[in-house]
Parts: sequence; C-alpha cells; structure tokens
Amino acid sequence: MYDIRINNDLRMHSNMCIRHKFFLGRMAAEEQKIEKLQDEINQLREELQRKERELFDLKFKKYHDNKYCLGLTATDIMRYSRQMLLSQFSITGQIALKKSRVLIVGMGGLGCPCALYLAAAGIGELTIVDYDEVELTNLHRQVLHGENDIGIPKILSAYNRLKNLNSNIKIIPIHTHANSSTLTDLFKNKTFDVVVDGSDNVATRYLLNDICVLNNLPLVSGSALQMEGQLTVYNYNKGPCYRCLFPVPPPPDTVMNCGDGGVLGPVPGIIGTLQALEVIKILTKQGGVLSSRLLTFDACEAVFRNVKLRTRNSRCAVCGDDPTITTLIDYEEFCGASAHDKVIDVDILRKDDHIPVKELSSKPETLLIDVRPTLEFAMCNLDNSYNFPYSYIKKGKDLDKLRKKLEDYSTNGNEVLIICRRGNDSQRAVLQLKEIFTDLPLKFLNVLGGLYAYSNAVDSSFPIY
Ligand SMILES: [Zn+2]
Repeated sequence: MYDIRINNDLRMHSNMCIRHKFFLGRMAAEEQKIEKLQDEINQLREELQRKERELFDLKFKKYHDNKYCLGLTATDIMRYSRQMLLSQFSITGQIALKKSRVLIVGMGGLGCPCALYLAAAGIGELTIVDYDEVELTNLHRQVLHGENDIGIPKILSAYNRLKNLNSNIKIIPIHTHANSSTLTDLFKNKTFDVVVDGSDNVATRYLLNDICVLNNLPLVSGSALQMEGQLTVYNYNKGPCYRCLFPVPPPPDTVMNCGDGGVLGPVPGIIGTLQALEVIKILTKQGGVLSSRLLTFDACEAVFRNVKLRTRNSRCAVCGDDPTITTLIDYEEFCGASAHDKVIDVDILRKDDHIPVKELSSKPETLLIDVRPTLEFAMCNLDNSYNFPYSYIKKGKDLDKLRKKLEDYSTNGNEVLIICRRGNDSQRAVLQLKEIFTDLPLKFLNVLGGLYAYSNAVDSSFPIY
C-alpha cells in the first residue's frame, strides 16, 4: 500500500513538473496530448510492475520459507550466493545487510550506481532522498534514469528501477530537498546505520557531516568532477569528520559543479560504486574501511592514490572535545552558497542595459558577442555571433583583438549585444566592457536570459545543455 500510494503521489507530481518545466511556450493541445500519454504510460508501468512481481513470487514462492537456513530465505541464498561464498562476507554478512538501513542523499551521478549495487547486494532498507527531476543532461551518468523518465522526480525513477532489480528489499523514496529541517524530521522518524553523500554541493556536505556526527553514524562521502574523483569515510572508528579537515567552507565562487565544469560519466560511476563497496564493508564489519584516508582517482592517467588524512581534530566544532555545534544550523548561510546545483540568476545591471531575447531577430546587423567558453561556443552557436569568452575579459586576455573588432564595428553601428548561456556572465561582461572601452562610442547591452531564453522564447531547436 505504502509503495502504491507513493507512486500515485509522485505520478501526480511528475505530471505537474512536466507541465511546468518542459512545455513553456508550446501549444496547449500538444501539452495535453503529451500529458495524457504520460498518464497512460505511468499506469501501464504500474500494471507491468505488479505483474512482474506476481510472476517473481509465483516462480520463487516455494523457496520463501526455508527450514534449512536461519535468517535467510532459500531465494536469498540463491540470489546472494556468489557474495556469500566469500569467506570475509559469508552468511553472517548477508544477514547483516538484510537487517541494515542505509540513507542515500542525492540520486545523481554518485547516488545512482551506489543505490544500484546496494539494492543488488540486499540492503534491508534503502531510503533515497532527492528534490530534483530527471533531465536529458543527466542520462549520460545517472544510470538509474532513462529517456522515459525525463520530467519525473529522480526518486520515482530510481525507485522503479531499484524495485525492478530487487523487489525483496524495502525502498523508501523521499522527494524533498535535504536541509536541516527535512533531515531533522527524517531522523526523528527513522534510524540508519550508514549515510551516503551523493550530493554535489558544499552546503549539503556540511549538513550530512553534522547530522552523522550528532547521530554517531559513518558518512560515506564521494565527489566527481571532470576527470577526477575522490572518496573517503568520515566519522568512522575515531577517524576525522568533514569539519575536522575543512573547518571553514571554501569561497562560493571557487566551487565548480558538473553543469559548468563537465564530467565524464564513468568517473562518478566508479566513485559511486566504490561508495557502495565501503557501505557494504562497514555494515559487514570488514576491515580496511577508507577512514582517515582519502582515495583520489585520476581518470586521465588511470591512477588511484591513497592519501593519509589528519586524525580527528580535538578542537573540531562538531566532533571535538568541546563542540560548539550541537544541533543543525543553516548550511546555506554558513557556506554562503545554495544547497543545489541550480544557477541563481544575477541582476546587476540597470533596466536600460538589457534587451529582450525576442529583439535579436530584428537586429541582424548588430554585433553579437557570445561570451561563453570556446568549448561551449563550439557545441552550438547563433549565426553571426562572435565568440570572446568572459574569462578573457576578466583576465584581460587578447583585449587588443577585441578592441580591433569593436573599432571596426563602431564605424557602422553603436549597439553591441552580449549573450551567454543563462544571462549571468553576459551581465558581468557588460559591466566590465563598459569600463574597459569607455573611449569607444558603443553601447553594450545584455541579452536577457541568454541562450536558454532564446531556446524557450524564440527557437526551441537551439539545444539547452
Ligand atoms: Zn570533526
């Protein structure tokens, strides 16, 4: 009942998300058709899942009650036999997994492979938390989600896939943003043995660290970006916590996410899989847990390194001898950064420094400077746009080339339009270009909302990435 109710709630939610997220500017009739089709598919999927479970039960029912092995069913023995044959795992390990409760925060590039292996291994109860919906840009690395899941909550997509993999374990999907309030509520109602950090931001790292220290739980922490990954276990066996190593959060503008920096799919795949391995080792009380050590993975060179970390800091604000943090705080405020990877719009120009994206087509002769990085410009760009990355403007690189371009142009026109991916860097560029080229008779204007807005409001065939 619990599972079906969740499915129904999420299905309704998923339809709402689809309405709001994907069909802005499209015709209502088309929207209704897609929504109706999505509803039908959701119903068919539920029906299919019910029948598949019925079939599995029929095939394996006779093995459910078993007098020959204590604590496990005969199905369990068959399903998990290959790992139970390991001397360091054995039947004791399998029973320990069956009784265990694991929380994974984040169903992204790390959380997906981690959840997949934990569900396959037979973790008794897997709670998965995520606030986000599946997007096309997720699919190259977030392997639980498929094309048909675009627009639905990630935890619903993950729930369906994991339940399909192992219907004998309990999976609890929670569609929420992990913050002090939601996690306090969650920990009031449930207990866990291990927590996995599958998030992608510093605020959530501190939040999960503190809640693990306050509840005396190990935190299996991973990160992956571009061609590098890292892994360690905090607050385990007298080892350090995240705050012992990083008492102060990094400046927000020094932190990069996958949406800006990029990531190759197998990199989080490897780190997430290793997170699952550490969870299993902790739960089955094996040695060699990655505590007080950091594993780094360099995908370019195919090199793993093991770095020794400092020991627990007796002056740590949360796990030290005299802690000052005894309850959860506001982590977004503490880090000066949001606890998600969504870009926050900046608003730093005067009203008359902008032009709406719809006016682009009426100014074909006007110089349009695209300030995205060269790599992004090469992926897709507007006709007649000139690429000069914002990073060059910031560093003062090749400004003589830009000056030449602007001087040549100023004999014909006086407006220069600046565009970028989302309309944030272009605003920063406008401010700086105004300062640098005060001597030229030019007016720099920001194209509101950037190429995202262009795709939404002018031509939906322009790729959003
Ligand atoms: Zn600490």
